[in-house]
Order: sequence, then C-alpha cells, then structure tokens
Amino acid sequence: MICFGISLELYSLNFIEKVIAGMGHREEKHRRMELRRNIGNRKVRAIAPSSSQPFYSYLVAHACFNCQKSFKLNNQKDHVCPECGEKIYLMGRAFKAPKRGDREQWKKVQTLYAFGFRFHLYRGDYPALPERLREVGAFVAQYPDHELRVGEVERSLFPQEP
Ligand SMILES: [Zn+2]
Repeated sequence: MICFGISLELYSLNFIEKVIAGMGHREEKHRRMELRRNIGNRKVRAIAPSSSQPFYSYLVAHACFNCQKSFKLNNQKDHVCPECGEKIYLMGRAFKAPKRGDREQWKKVQTLYAFGFRFHLYRGDYPALPERLREVGAFVAQYPDHELRVGEVERSLFPQEP
C-alpha cells in the first residue's frame, strides 16, 4: 500500500530551485511584466471614466495560509488576517477556497501562489491547474509560462513541514 502522507507531497528546496532554474529568469521577468501590463490595461478599461468610486472597490478573495482560511476583502491595501493577524494574500476573483480542514488542498494553493500563480479571471485557453499538491511541481516545470503565473516566486511561502 502506498502512503500519501502530506510530508511525501512537499517539495524539497532543491527541487524548487531546479524548477525555477529551468525557466530562464530574464525571459520570465519580461513575460510577467508584459502580462501585468496587459492585465493592468484590462482593469483600466473596466473602470468608468466619470466614476467617483475608488479603484477596485469590489471584494476579492484573500487567503491566510496560517489559518488556512479565505476572506473577502477589498484590494485597496495590504490586509492582515482578521483572526491571527498574519499577512494575508490577494488570491484573485476566481479563487475557490479549499474546504476547511483540507490541509492538502490548502498547501496546494499555497504552493501555486508561491510559484507565482494568481487566480484571476482570465479569458482564454490554458491548462487547468493541477488537482493535487503532488502534481504542482511537475505542472510548473511543464508550463512555466502559464497564463495565470503572473507573480514573483516567493520562496518563503513554500509550505513547511508542520
Ligand atoms: Zn490567519
């Protein structure tokens, strides 16, 4: 019988380094700047010119990886978790929070975030995000230019052993 313990599904830093090294840093940076510019343009167009509303006044999912909970908050400033006070992360409007207590799925979304994925609404064809935590490393290696991969790699966010 195979044991799918969480610890087996975590990636060693070596593995993460290899995935990152395989991407070609300069092209990566350029690509993401382009993507951000495109996304920025789309947002700007979506705002009515005469609107007195503040920019982006809608609520959007933020995740606390410490509590493994999601909160809908505006995205006008850096928020902290209402429950534990740790930094929380803007995930994007298409983010679907894993069920409470589903540690594997929470670590999966945390790992995707750490690799730079954001859950924006994005029209177009792109490979569906992986279902399981253990698939994330191979997925990133296979699709380093994925359309939803618009953020910087945040090494400190790769899940640690509990
Ligand atoms: Zn929290």
